[in-house]
Amino acid sequence: MSTAVSIAQKNLHSKGFLDLEVDPTLDLFEEIEKLKKEKNAIILAHYYQESEIQDIADYIGDSLGLSQKAAKTDADIIVFAGVHFMAETAKMLSPEKKVLLPDLKAGCSLADSCPPHLFRKFKERHPDAVVVSYINCTAELKTLTDICCTSTNAVQVIESIPEDKQIIFAPDKNLGAYLQKKTGRDLILWNGTCMVHEIFSHEKITKLRQRHPNAEFIAHPECEAHILEEADFIGSTTGLLNYSRDSDATEFIVATEVGILHQMEKASPDKTFIPAPPNNTCACNECPHMKRNTLEKLYLCMKHEEPEIILEDWIIEQGVKSINRMLEISDRAGLGLKPQDALD
Ligand code: SF4
Repeated sequence: MSTAVSIAQKNLHSKGFLDLEVDPTLDLFEEIEKLKKEKNAIILAHYYQESEIQDIADYIGDSLGLSQKAAKTDADIIVFAGVHFMAETAKMLSPEKKVLLPDLKAGCSLADSCPPHLFRKFKERHPDAVVVSYINCTAELKTLTDICCTSTNAVQVIESIPEDKQIIFAPDKNLGAYLQKKTGRDLILWNGTCMVHEIFSHEKITKLRQRHPNAEFIAHPECEAHILEEADFIGSTTGLLNYSRDSDATEFIVATEVGILHQMEKASPDKTFIPAPPNNTCACNECPHMKRNTLEKLYLCMKHEEPEIILEDWIIEQGVKSINRMLEISDRAGLGLKPQDALD
């Protein structure tokens, strides 16, 4: 092993990734394809990844599709181009496989807004409540959860719980408020939010809609209630993608992370997609955590098989139950992976 590699490995946890030079003359697409075959590896990418990472992925999806794919793959290595909690979920579903994340510091403000030690105390105040957690939470929080959900199946998960049961919903208060409205259930909400979805500007969106009167406004349920009230359609990232493809409208203002626009434009090349503006000086909404992954880091982590997601056995054993319950409810509700969603 070269000195540079051993220094990079020593610094892996402080940096989050293998900080090595990548030869600029390499064709990274070709190299990554070679590594996939050599190592029987699969790349799963979230819709919020850079477009070049989406283009090299074997499967692109939202949290539900990605966890279904992680549960079913027969690859030896899962390379997860997404954020930390997603790679942890893949590890819990496939503990015998090696799960790699290009940058360990690709976190999530929503998952971080619900520290397990504080949540444990919150849960003790409602001992009879069923705990439903949005999948955007840490592996340890999943051990304190009865059923996980994603934005695709959250309504079905809530509706699967008997009416006389109290429900705690964590960590996203905006998605929780949306679910209260949608299901008519009274949820005990944890006060967490996603930094990307809570800063859309109502005023700027209104002005944008005046300039584009024929555009449909579509939004993710992690957005705040006053933004969702204006939406023509509310859905998960896959839901928004499918809606924009099937709608007769030709222009859309999209309130979620801007990475999804790449797939929307590919699915509907004749349509126009405009990112909804946030309440700051940027023109679009990017998740800084998702964007920590780059093609170079993806290549390096496949080549050296690091950084790897390691979880303690008790976390896997306890946490996976809440994910499996979610997958069962999704299957019963017909929310499984569709053949056209899989690229491989
Ligand atoms: S977009 Fe929000 S919820 Fe998704 S990874 Fe980024 S911070 Fe987390």
